[in-house]
Amino acid sequence: MNNPFIELGIRHEIVNAISDLGFENPTPIQEQSIPVLLSGSNDFVGLAQTGTGKTAAFGLPLLELLDFEANHPQALVLCPTRELCLQITNDLKNYAKNTRNVHVVAVYGGASISDQLHQIRRGVQIVVATPGRMLDIIGRGAIDFSGVRYVVLDEADEMLNMGFQEDIDNILSETPSDKKTWLFSATMPSEVRRIAKKYMDDPYELTMGTKNTGNENIDHEYYVVRARDKYAAFKRIVDFNPEIFGIVFCRTKIETQEIAEALIKDGYNADSLHGDLSQQQRDKVMKRYRERSLQLLIATDVAARGIDVNDVTHVINYSLPDEIENYTHRSGRTARAGKTGVSISIINAKELGKIRQIEKTIGKRFVKVEIPGGFDVVEKQLFALIHKVHNVEVNEQQIEQYLPRIMDEFKELSKEEIIKRFASLEFNSFLDYYKNAPDLNAHVEENRRPEGGDRFNRTGMRSDFTRLFINLGSVDGFTRGDLLGYICNTTKISGKTVGKIDVKGVYSFFEVPNDDVAKVQNGFRGADFHGRDVRIEISGESSNEKRGGASNYKKREGGDRREGGFRGGSGYNGDRRERQGSHSGGFRDFSGKRREDRGERRKRF
Ligand code: AMP
Repeated sequence: MNNPFIELGIRHEIVNAISDLGFENPTPIQEQSIPVLLSGSNDFVGLAQTGTGKTAAFGLPLLELLDFEANHPQALVLCPTRELCLQITNDLKNYAKNTRNVHVVAVYGGASISDQLHQIRRGVQIVVATPGRMLDIIGRGAIDFSGVRYVVLDEADEMLNMGFQEDIDNILSETPSDKKTWLFSATMPSEVRRIAKKYMDDPYELTMGTKNTGNENIDHEYYVVRARDKYAAFKRIVDFNPEIFGIVFCRTKIETQEIAEALIKDGYNADSLHGDLSQQQRDKVMKRYRERSLQLLIATDVAARGIDVNDVTHVINYSLPDEIENYTHRSGRTARAGKTGVSISIINAKELGKIRQIEKTIGKRFVKVEIPGGFDVVEKQLFALIHKVHNVEVNEQQIEQYLPRIMDEFKELSKEEIIKRFASLEFNSFLDYYKNAPDLNAHVEENRRPEGGDRFNRTGMRSDFTRLFINLGSVDGFTRGDLLGYICNTTKISGKTVGKIDVKGVYSFFEVPNDDVAKVQNGFRGADFHGRDVRIEISGESSNEKRGGASNYKKREGGDRREGGFRGGSGYNGDRRERQGSHSGGFRDFSGKRREDRGERRKRF
């Protein structure tokens, strides 16, 4: 069977090049626009999100239509940012790597103009440019656009947002009137509609999805918190997603800087991107992010325009944007190239109206999600660690010399004991960090019923039940049945009333009707299990708050576990930050600094 790109009319040498990039099948926008654009006879308006394969949708037809025997500008691609300009240039060069005499030049501000002029003088067929620098070069009389046959306006809405309307007018007036104009835009505000009317003659219109609709692969979620808990809630969300590779949007440069600094101080792998940075600093941050040595990029809307990084797992709206259009642009940074992604908004109760407005505009429902409780995070982190240990690449050669000593050290221990101890290295610090983590959700009455009725919350738990934590688990020999028996014997509540029981390693959860919580807590007061105090806590809430200061419980944290064969306080705390800096998906710094931070914050709850 023929390659589907061949069937669309793309020649072999280009198809071979894009096959090397992993393009096996055209994306929907490519499938629909390539045949139209290849005819070369239409103006064109394509309404499509970023990440849908737009660059190849116009790039492949350009490579088919231009005359590469001639060495003068025949196509001009205008785009809003330097990042996008470089990306498009690079993509076009990749598509053309097997094609002779194709010359593409990137023209953008913040870099040496003489290099760009030099490349233009040597002869180019495709100019990819940001409007400001393009005008500068036109103003110097350094380029001849009289042979231009195609103009592409990419991310037209962004260019207008950034105030390039006049520059675009001036640039286009340098090009022949019979050229064809191809416009791509993620949204279709009236300004874009106007430029389409102004520059185009009966354009062929292609809409991927409905107008102003966000990418179908993006889940939109929101969390409602009190303003003072926002930062703590944000960190909790990040901790709950150990493999996060995200962009965090703030409203101002100052907020961006502050959040990034606080995160770095708290041991996260983050940096900021905003307009007060020099181009060189921005490039450095972007390089680290692209290479994934940064896990969180904290950015303003303007600075993040045109960021084209694949595999962004989460977009986090630390502050909602002022303009709803910007929400679409922000969330479009995830779920690129057919992948899925999550766009999270952390809001206070007053901003619910804005969420409803965004829902209307993008035509998608947001899901309200609860900020995870401390133990939920601990569990997530623990299993991410286990997963990592399972998948780690072993350097056989280097480790070999140490193996006899390591084996000797462990010779007394069973496999189960060794696994338990490795897991506990990190686990103890997670547990310690989160043991008194407060509930960060702001509980607000909403008019809208949650989907699926309101008898159950998101985790499937009935809202008239409370989830309790108990510091006993499978390592203590408990199965679900045993634990149920133990709870009923100790508290004298009926086994029939106990809801879901979740037995973990060193702790468990069980659900009881809200009315029975006090009875269970009283029943366990003073209880001990083989000489250890038994601790009961409401999942996700501070035990101090709930029980009015249970200092006897606190005192025993860790001590009990050590008796049970777990070593407290891993010796790795000190260098965790360093390790984190060098790879993504690292674990948070649960060492002293974070604890202090949490201590300070806790005072305020
Ligand atoms: P774009 O919207 O042009 O920025 O493309 C988004 C991402 O999708 C880029 O990383 C492209 O390399 C990738 N891509 C574009 N077209 C295809 C395709 N047909 N198959 C696989 N990946 C593609």
